[in-house]
Amino acid sequence: MSAHSLSELRAVNSFAALPAVFHTRLAPQALNNPRLLHANADAARLIGLDPSVLSTPEFLGVFSGAQPLPGGDTLAAVYSGHQFGVWAGQLGDGRAHLLGEVEGPEGAWELQLKGSGMTPYSRMGDGRAVLRSSVREYLASEAMHGLGVPTTRALALVVSDDPVMRETVETAAIVTRMSPSFVRFGSFEHWSSRRQPDQLRILTDYVIDRYYPECREAGNGEPADADVLNLLRAVTRRTARLMADWQAVGFCHGVMNTDNMSILGLTLDYGPYGFMDGFRLGHVCNHSDTEGRYSWNRQPSVALWNLYRLGGSLHALVPDVEGLRAVLDEFEPAFTSAFHSRMAAKLGLAAWRPDDEPLLDDLLKLMDANQADFTLSWRRLADAVSGQRSPFEDLFIDRPAASAWLDRLLARHAQDGRPAAEVAAGMNGVNPLYVLRNHLAEEAIRAAKSGDAGEIDTLLKLLRNPYVEQPGHEKYAGLPPDWAGGIEVSCSS
Ligand code: AMP
Ligand code: MG
Repeated sequence: MSAHSLSELRAVNSFAALPAVFHTRLAPQALNNPRLLHANADAARLIGLDPSVLSTPEFLGVFSGAQPLPGGDTLAAVYSGHQFGVWAGQLGDGRAHLLGEVEGPEGAWELQLKGSGMTPYSRMGDGRAVLRSSVREYLASEAMHGLGVPTTRALALVVSDDPVMRETVETAAIVTRMSPSFVRFGSFEHWSSRRQPDQLRILTDYVIDRYYPECREAGNGEPADADVLNLLRAVTRRTARLMADWQAVGFCHGVMNTDNMSILGLTLDYGPYGFMDGFRLGHVCNHSDTEGRYSWNRQPSVALWNLYRLGGSLHALVPDVEGLRAVLDEFEPAFTSAFHSRMAAKLGLAAWRPDDEPLLDDLLKLMDANQADFTLSWRRLADAVSGQRSPFEDLFIDRPAASAWLDRLLARHAQDGRPAAEVAAGMNGVNPLYVLRNHLAEEAIRAAKSGDAGEIDTLLKLLRNPYVEQPGHEKYAGLPPDWAGGIEVSCSS
C-alpha cells in the first residue's frame, strides 16, 4: 500500500524528540516561483510514496520549502567539527532543514532540504545552495547507490530564479536528501568539546538504540561502557568498508571534514567530489584543497584520523583509553581486508593472496605514471581476459609496460584455473562502465540551467545500472573530452 498524498506518510520524527538543545525548530525560507526539475521515483518508493504524488502541487510546495511535511517537525540540527584538520567549533545545519522522519516499507528515512535558507547555524553563509552543486549532489548520491556504495539518497530537485552570489551570480535550488540519519562525527564532537557529557550520553544512547541496537550488551538495561565501545567498533568497521568502496570506484570525496562523516558509514555531503578520469595516486578533486589533504590515496588514513576525533569525543563517556584505542586499531585490518577483497574481485582473482600485493601495486603505479583512465582501465581488464588485449593497452602511453603487466595478470588467472568467461563476467559485475564523470555532470548542469532535465534523467537511468552495458549510450562510457580537464570544482556551492 503506497501513500497517494504526503499526509498519508507515516511520520516518526525521532531526532526531533531529542532535547531542545540538539536543534532549532524553524521554517525554511521557500524559493520564489519554484519549479520541480526532477523527482526520484526510486527514493519515493523507499518512503512508501506513490510516484503519482511527485508531480502534484503538494509535492512542490513541501520540497520548495513553502509547506511543512504533514506530520513532520521541521528543524535545523547543531553539530561541530574539524575542517581540514583544524577545530572549527560550532557548525550545524546552516542551510538545511530536517522536515521530518518517515517510516518506509524497509525502515525509516529522514527527509532534509538543503539550500532552504538561513538558520542559527549559518554563520557567514546565505543559507542557499546553487543549482550547479544541487544537481551534482542529486546525481552523485544516486550514482553511488547504483554502484552499491552506502550513501544518502536524493528525492527531489527544485529550482528557481532567485539569485545567489558566489564567484558570479547563480540561481538557488533545493535538493531533498534522504538518510536514516544525518548525525555526523561532529555531532558527538559538539558535546564533548562543550564538556557536556550528559548531552553526549543522550546522543550516544539515541544512536545506539535507533541505529545500532546490536551494540547493546545484554545487561540490566543501563548504558554500559561496552555499549559505547561496541558503537565505536561498528562505526569504525562501516567507515573502513566505505573507504574500501570509495577507493575501488575511484571516488574522491573532497571535503572529509568530521562534520561530513556519517555516523552510519554513508557517503554524506557531496560538494567538490570527483570520480577520477586519468588516475593519479595523489589526485585531489577539490580545487580549494591546496595542501592535498583529501587526495585519493589519503582517504583511508583521513577516515582513521576522523575516527580518532570520534573516539576522543566518546572518551568523555568511557575513561578506558586503551579500550578506545584498541577499537580504533581495528580500522587498519578492516580497511585492508575490505580493500583487498574488492581489489581481488576487480582483478578477477578467486581470492586475494598476500603475494598479490605487487600485482595490484604495479597496476596502480602504471596507471598513475600513464594517467590512464581509472574506470576504463579496470573495465577493460575483462576484455583482456576474453582475449582482446588492445582496448586495455590503448589506455597506456607505455604500451609495452601495460602488456607485460597483463601477462602477469593472465598468468595469475591461470593459477586459479577458472573459465575465462566466468572470470570476465565477474569482473564486469564489479568494474563499472559508467561513472558520474565531471564532464557528464557538467553537461547535465548546463541543460538544467535552461530548464531541461533530460540529461539528469538519462544519467540517473544509466547510473542506476553502471555495470551493465546499455546500447546507444557509448558516449557516456568513453574517455572524457579535452575540456573536462579544465573543470574545477571547489568548496563554492
Ligand atoms: P560543508 O563544507 O558544505 O559541509 O559546510 C560546512 C558548514 O558550513 C556546514 O555547517 C554548513 O551548513 C555550512 N554552510 C555551507 N554553505 C553554507 C551557506 N551557503 N549558508 C549557510 N551555511 C552554509
Ligand atoms: Mg557538510
